[in-house]
Order: sequence, then C-alpha cells, then structure tokens
Amino acid sequence: MRTQTSTAVNLILLGPPGSGKGTQAVRLSQAMNVPAISTGDILRKAVHDGNAIGRAAKAVMDRGELVSDEMITDVVAARLGEADTRPGCVLDGFPRTVRQAVALDRLTIGRGRVVVAELVVPEADLIRRLTMRRVCEQCGINAQPAAPQCHCGGSLVSRTDDREEVVRDRLRVYECATRPLVDFYNSRSLVHAIDGTLAPDVVTAHIRSAIETSLGLELQPTTVCK
Ligand code: AMP
Repeated sequence: MRTQTSTAVNLILLGPPGSGKGTQAVRLSQAMNVPAISTGDILRKAVHDGNAIGRAAKAVMDRGELVSDEMITDVVAARLGEADTRPGCVLDGFPRTVRQAVALDRLTIGRGRVVVAELVVPEADLIRRLTMRRVCEQCGINAQPAAPQCHCGGSLVSRTDDREEVVRDRLRVYECATRPLVDFYNSRSLVHAIDGTLAPDVVTAHIRSAIETSLGLELQPTTVCK
C-alpha cells in the first residue's frame, strides 16, 4: 500500500444537516492534506460580509431552503479554480441536488478520483444535535458541548437556521433534493455508508479506511483537532 497518493482525491461528504459533515470535513482534510470546502461556511461568510452572494442567499438560508444551483455551482467552480485544490478536496455541503452533482462531474474531469461517504444518523438524533448546537459568532466553528466560549475568544450562539421548525424544513429538503444523490453515486459504486452515530474519532477512522480501501493507499496519520 502506498502512503498518500500522487492522484488527486476528492471526497464528497453526503448526509443530512447535523450528521457531522463539518466536523469530519476538517479531520479528513487534515488526513488527506487537501482543503475542506464547506459551501455553508462560504455562504455564511458572504452573508457576514454583505456581498452580492450573501445578500441573495440570506433569506433563503434563514428559511432552510437551498440557494440556486447556478449560484452555488459558480461559487464552487471559483473555489476549485484555486491552486490549493489541485491535489483534491473534501466537499462538505456540495453537491446537494442532482443538477449540482452533474455540474460537479464536469468540474472534476481530469482532477483525480471521487469517493463519497454518506453519514447515516436517525432523524431524532439530528434534531437533538442541531437544536443544541452552538457555533462561534466570530470564527464559525462548532463549539464543544460545555465550552463557555470559543477557543478564539468569540461568543457561542445558535445558528438562526438551527431553530427546530427550520431544522425540520432542512431535513425535508434533504430527503427530497439531496438523498437522491445516494442513488446517483451508488450507481457508480462510489458510496460508503458510514454510521454517523458513533464517536467522531470512530467515524473519522471508518471514513479513512473506506477511502484507503477504495483507493489502495494509506492516508497520513492525523493529529485530530478537538
Ligand atoms: P450547511 O451549513 O451546509 O447546513 O448550509 C447552510 C445553508 O446554506 C443551507 O441550508 C442552504 O441554504 C445553503 N447551502 C449550502 N450549501 C448549499 C448547496 N450546495 N446548495 C444550495 N444551498 C446550499
């Protein structure tokens, strides 16, 4: 088995809101030595900055709906145009519709291998996790459960779209728009279903071994950021 790969590897994390994609994206990007691209984080930053994308996205995000395929595909295309993504990337939150997946097929032509990990978590757990989640107002990362404040010193708040009624809408949107992607990628035997209810370290280990098995390579040992 080789250590690391000369071929680019693009990992798509599929899974409903609250399934742990953000946490795993950070860990796996470290293990794979490629950037994590979170479309939710990019959009939240755009809202915070008040730019044109943020102004277009804010109300849609507050309702728990999806921004347009065109807009988010342009955002991802621009990010994949940056040099640090040439060795691959971890995609968290994209694609979310079949149209986005078709667009991603085009964007990844000649850019190495694609692996898909689907994080599976029951709905009751997702609702509990999201309604209890707190994020840093300043740097946006998810807070540890009992932390009084973020390690960067920022205050911890709930995301506006983590209110229970919005969470239920987001889960409905996932079922209707995003779950069909499991079949889309399964038809190419790319999907690894991962039990997302396990401890985060265990979930990371399972995704790593799915990548290593399917690509025949060994990822770097990870120092996990807690
Ligand atoms: P997330 O942080 O991934 O839960 O994303 C937060 C919100 O950003 C979503 O509820 C959508 O409104 C929007 N969003 C993020 N990624 C996408 C995407 N690929 N397609 C459409 N909307 C997205």
